Amino acid sequence: MAATPKLKAMLDAKCPRCRRGDIFQNSMYGLKSQKMYEFCPHCGLKYEVEPGYFYAAMYVGYAINVALGVTVGMATYFITKEEKSPWIYIAAVLTASFLTAPINFRYSRVILLHLLSPKISYRPDYDHD
Ligand SMILES: [Zn+2]
Repeated sequence: MAATPKLKAMLDAKCPRCRRGDIFQNSMYGLKSQKMYEFCPHCGLKYEVEPGYFYAAMYVGYAINVALGVTVGMATYFITKEEKSPWIYIAAVLTASFLTAPINFRYSRVILLHLLSPKISYRPDYDHD
């Protein structure tokens, strides 16, 4: 049985322990709320390791937003041929941040669970049907 690659599990927002079960109940741009499963539907891992665990995801989300803002700001600078008005940049960065909010919300939690949670490790014995 081939192991599920970590990157694929992260892109698909799968459980960090079995890389099989979904973390979120709805699709990313669905109109329903972004609801997480409390436990992995495949291996039963409790995603919220301790109470308030996902507050830490806000820091990850903040870092993603800063990186996004710098990227969009630079892109705006080159696309508009060195625009001087700050409002163009503010509008571009806020729009990008708003449009990517669902992605940011999800992947900040995925990154927290997969890369920043020493208590959770991949268990190949769970990585099968
Ligand atoms: Zn799992």
